[in-house]
Amino acid sequence: MEMNSAQWDDRVIIVTGAGLGIGKAVALKAAEWGAKVALWDVNREALSAVSRELTAMGGDHLTVTVDVSISSQVAEAVSHVISRWGRIDGICNSAGIQTYGTVTETDEDTWDRTLTVNLKSMYLVAHHGLPVMMAQRGGAIVNVSSVQALATQPRVAAYAASKAGIIALTTSMAVDYGAYGIRVNAVLPGSVDTPMLRWSAALQGPDVPSTLREWGQLHALKRVAQPDEIASVCIFLLSDAASFMTGSHVVVDGGLTSQL
Ligand code: NAD
Repeated sequence: MEMNSAQWDDRVIIVTGAGLGIGKAVALKAAEWGAKVALWDVNREALSAVSRELTAMGGDHLTVTVDVSISSQVAEAVSHVISRWGRIDGICNSAGIQTYGTVTETDEDTWDRTLTVNLKSMYLVAHHGLPVMMAQRGGAIVNVSSVQALATQPRVAAYAASKAGIIALTTSMAVDYGAYGIRVNAVLPGSVDTPMLRWSAALQGPDVPSTLREWGQLHALKRVAQPDEIASVCIFLLSDAASFMTGSHVVVDGGLTSQL
């Protein structure tokens, strides 16, 4: 089982949503493993901050300010990576947004934005990036979904639909590209302590740490996750240690969905 960094020296990994939260943790871990990392995010300041951390680590990396929901920008971002390193070995799609509302509360713009940023973006990244992996006859993709694809809290209609769509897209891609040696898996996190979760907690009231503790109690492990704990599973799925895994939907939720 390959779980050491040595074989990652020549690997090129793209991480979307790499500026903050889970994506940032995946980017840092991939760099620790010695990969060349392309960090994609719409938030330029967040990217610069991660870039400084990677430079301090001596990690070979590239930052691309890109809105992954816009096809032309994704195509250009792929070109950047190819002109720098000439290949793509792994993609972790972590960019996403949280929106709230029942279907009657959700206006059409919010529905479209949620589905476009969370789901269509993964189609776009695959549409533009997969031909490179197909030509190489190998690669791995990890799509970050959510446990809300399986069971939801109230008022997350668009978000839950986008996250469930990611599972179907992942399954479909696994079937279509397995013959090329390309593996595609989804990760379904429970609550993870990221800027997104803290933003959601702040909607409940000003005492964010106490809301996070309360949400943590819903998990069997009695706490929310740290981004690193999701990143390690993403890195595992990108690595050769997961060489026979494709089309899988890996729940990483501290037992949140195990409890009645
Ligand atoms: P975050 O908000 O902390 O970070 C998300 C990053 O994605 C940000 O840097 C943001 O700028 C970027 N992003 C958003 N829209 C983008 C776009 N159109 N183009 C490029 N970049 C864009 O969120 P997070 O908590 O790290 O979440 C990462 C993923 O994990 C999301 O898909 C989220 O739905 C999922 N998730 C999070 C949790 C959680 O509890 N935090 C739980 C389950 C699933």
